[in-house]
Amino acid sequence: MRLSKFLPSSLFLTISIVPLTWAQSTPTTAGLNALPEVEFSRLSQRDPNPLGEKALAIHPEQWKHGETEHFIYHFVDSFVVTPISVEAEFHYRVVAKELEREQPAGDTKSHIYVFERPADWQQFQKLGRLEPWTGGIHSQGSLFIVRNPAFKFSNNTLGHEIAHLILHRFYSDAIPCWLDEGFAQYVSKGAHASYQRARGYISKPHSQAIATQDLIPLTVLVAMTQPPSERVEIFYNESERFVRFLASTDKPRFLALLDALARHQPFDSTVLRIYAGEFASAAVLEEKFRDYAAKDSETSSQLAGE
Ligand SMILES: [Zn+2]
Repeated sequence: MRLSKFLPSSLFLTISIVPLTWAQSTPTTAGLNALPEVEFSRLSQRDPNPLGEKALAIHPEQWKHGETEHFIYHFVDSFVVTPISVEAEFHYRVVAKELEREQPAGDTKSHIYVFERPADWQQFQKLGRLEPWTGGIHSQGSLFIVRNPAFKFSNNTLGHEIAHLILHRFYSDAIPCWLDEGFAQYVSKGAHASYQRARGYISKPHSQAIATQDLIPLTVLVAMTQPPSERVEIFYNESERFVRFLASTDKPRFLALLDALARHQPFDSTVLRIYAGEFASAAVLEEKFRDYAAKDSETSSQLAGE
């Protein structure tokens, strides 16, 4: 099924949705097109992450399992996990396209654990570090989230977390925090808007301008190893804006920068080398970015292609 008639033909978001593997098999749980349940012993892969084992040890009788092309799910209720599985595969395609990469060698799937009971989640979250933006935990390529069965997707938090999982598959040696968070925000905002539009909702990605006096200096931003608890919102906004700025200035150079930073090259010299001719010095880069960050979201519409 091609969705491009619903979607803009921009570089980023002309998306072909290929039939998901589960849609081709016979559902074993109630509900049309529900994610089929698979016995744990018959899953195609195991999660080597010890946190996964700990999650499944919490009321072990509650967990069911299923899988799609790129993800394995551990869940309680089929009707909760089914929309998550559809959205996860959607985001996989958006992010892979944005990275202009083929699937990494191998066929490793990412594991997603969907808790439903708040008490179970409270017990589990003591084991990992919550992402302040989404309340999920991602660790070593696995994602742990809590879902209220009444929850309706209303923002880009799931897409944000899925973006992290996919970045981890392409860059398993870790990328800097601002780039990981900024890219996850950048790609999930645009993807969420197109996901909504494909389902008949009017939606545009939203990107907030940042007042110049609120900006974290770039040298400080790029050195942070986790979002600063007292400036979480600015950190995510500014990281997203910085990624958007670098990608819109020159997409191939942005991807080259991503590759270099994933190999732990120093930011300051690497960005000036890769963007030679654009930014003559760190001061010029900072100045151009400050101007860009203070503008209202004129380029966010570029991602959506409208
Ligand atoms: Zn994040």
